[in-house]
Amino acid sequence: MTTTDTRPTTVRPATEYLDPKLNSKIPEGPIERKWERHKFEMKLVSPTNRRRYTIIVVGSGLAGASAAATLAEAGYNVKCYTYHDSPRRAHSIAAQGGINAAKNYRNDGDSVFRLFYDTVKGGDFRAREANVYRLAEVSMAIIDQCVAQGVPFAREYSGYLDNRSFGGAQVARTFYARGQTGQQLLLGAYQALSRQIGLGQVKMFSRTEMLDLVVIDGRARGIVTRDMVTGKIESHVADAVVLATGGYSNVFYLSTNAKACNATAIWRAHRRGAFFGNPCFTQIHPTCIPVSGDHQSKLTLMSESLRNDGRVWVPKTPGDKRPPSSIPEDERDYYLERKYPSYGNLVPRDISSRAAKQVCDEGRGVGPGGLGVYLDFSDAIKRLGRKVIEERYGNLFEMYERITGENPYETPMRIYPAVHYTMGGLWVDYNLMSTIPGLFVIGEANFSDHGANRLGASALMQGLADGYFILPYTIADYLASTKFTKVDTTHIAFRETEAEVTERTNRLLNTKGTRTVDMFHRELGKIMWDYCGMARNEAGLKHALEVIPELRERFWREVKVPGEGNDINQELEKAGRVADFMELAELMCIDALHRDESCGGHFREEHQTEDGEAERDDENFAYVAAWEFTGLGTKPVLHREPLHFEYVKPAVRSYK
Ligand SMILES: Cc1cc2nc3c(=O)[nH]c(=O)nc-3n(C[C@H](O)[C@H](O)[C@H](O)COP(=O)(O)OP(=O)(O)OC[C@H]3O[C@@H](n4cnc5c(N)ncnc54)[C@H](O)[C@@H]3O)c2cc1C
Repeated sequence: MTTTDTRPTTVRPATEYLDPKLNSKIPEGPIERKWERHKFEMKLVSPTNRRRYTIIVVGSGLAGASAAATLAEAGYNVKCYTYHDSPRRAHSIAAQGGINAAKNYRNDGDSVFRLFYDTVKGGDFRAREANVYRLAEVSMAIIDQCVAQGVPFAREYSGYLDNRSFGGAQVARTFYARGQTGQQLLLGAYQALSRQIGLGQVKMFSRTEMLDLVVIDGRARGIVTRDMVTGKIESHVADAVVLATGGYSNVFYLSTNAKACNATAIWRAHRRGAFFGNPCFTQIHPTCIPVSGDHQSKLTLMSESLRNDGRVWVPKTPGDKRPPSSIPEDERDYYLERKYPSYGNLVPRDISSRAAKQVCDEGRGVGPGGLGVYLDFSDAIKRLGRKVIEERYGNLFEMYERITGENPYETPMRIYPAVHYTMGGLWVDYNLMSTIPGLFVIGEANFSDHGANRLGASALMQGLADGYFILPYTIADYLASTKFTKVDTTHIAFRETEAEVTERTNRLLNTKGTRTVDMFHRELGKIMWDYCGMARNEAGLKHALEVIPELRERFWREVKVPGEGNDINQELEKAGRVADFMELAELMCIDALHRDESCGGHFREEHQTEDGEAERDDENFAYVAAWEFTGLGTKPVLHREPLHFEYVKPAVRSYK
């Protein structure tokens, strides 16, 4: 390892933060034995008893589909919900680059420990060691399972699965299926899910949106949904509820996420008592197509895998507007290779994003508005030939050309950082259970595993690890150790929750203001990007905390939602989601303001080194911030889960 992690930092004794409401339930023992031991110690539900339990899974992306299929295969009754017309359309389908696993097929020095190490370090020492180790451990089983399902991973000459590298790693451990890895993995999970739908073990509810969680005697016992075709509000009862509802990057309006991604499910659960972990940790992805104007509603990601062969550069001279082909080699600044010689273009996302912002702030950005840097393949094409590049990245090049009208085989791509992934989410313990007993949260919807910065190709790994290999064990333990009272949808809690959902929907329809939902959403997104985006500071965050509540208040007074409630009404769907974003945005700023340090994707301008690197404060902030909802307009309560680093000692994170 050529990193220079030399300077150990002080970590405040964990006991200072012990919070009676947060029990992470990390098993005892050495890290490499924890999961094995925990699996043995947890209770089981015997095969014949499983059919007595019903489990709700909200979401059919990689996390939800893999969980629903596996639980049904085990014999539980599963009800699975998605707002899409088919489970196959979940946002996971968009994932391009690949999925990590510590198989060491390349014999280049990879191991479970190295994947664990890279992930803890990549997350800037803000993730729970035990979870990350388990993730690295089960990563190998994921690949085996997906191959068995027929997922067409790329192969090399020998017949072994091929690997490429992603940021933050010096080994090639990323398995891929061209630039469509998410789609192929989702087809695998979908086929497993379909088998169970066919057998009647999973009841699939498509075009159905969860609008609230029902908590009875302190336990999650069901959900309230809206049928997106008929508008019918309905209740669904279960013994446990699993949220696999993805991330909330769309709070920024412009992001690489699918337009429909939102926070409603987790936000409603938060309002009912589930703590929200590290809400301000947002990942900015360095390789997206730059914003081209006000008309855009979404941004396009160019996979990080492109940085295996593409070289990032800008002109050395500020204001140099010559076309790239006219800028000679010695007038180019390959700034990532210059600043980070050991990782070069493959530094992690937070580092690469900030470096791009820095050169653009210096006036060296390229393209209209100067918010862009070049990603250049000319050297790779010279070295390997166009055909090889076409095989590796063909569909991504095609996509870039279709969007920008420029041919990346001939002229360098232009890229700029954009909001991409949310490391924050509902707080969960080692069993993936939230602070509401019986409410489990998996995939991007929970806060776990990635700390303050997710390394590339790790989200798919986490979603599938949670769904195929972790939740099925831990949910069994919950079911086997809980005494359930019998409830049905006539219970007062269901009636009340339904009434609240109906009232809220009617309120949105009856406001009859003059401004569209998108106008409000765009305004909120701009506030978030300007003050809680790639760089944050105290004054900006305080300003955001003044204007967000005002905007929210205006939203409820002036929003115009056309159409009816008892029909297909996409404006109504959007309005409900934006209303929740308005509340979540405030919590994100509160969290960003309280975390008076820089770490990973959370870059507080006040805390940086002389050369612009993030400066962590382990003495005061080596904890997960888990927020408790106390009512709108009242300050949420902060609970802290201390983070212990026994195996990867916090040190200055360097990729030089
Ligand atoms: C463009 C792009 C490329 C990416 N590439 C990679 C990559 O190469 N490698 C990698 O590891 N990661 C990648 N990621 C990240 C990764 O795709 C996601 O983190 C991951 O797919 C999330 O999976 P999930 O199952 O948690 O959620 P999703 O796939 O977002 O699924 C969410 C599901 O929940 C449902 N849902 C949500 N709310 C509700 C509700 N209220 N009611 C009913 N249903 C609801 C949706 O209908 C959907 O079925 C990429 C992300 C983007 C944006």
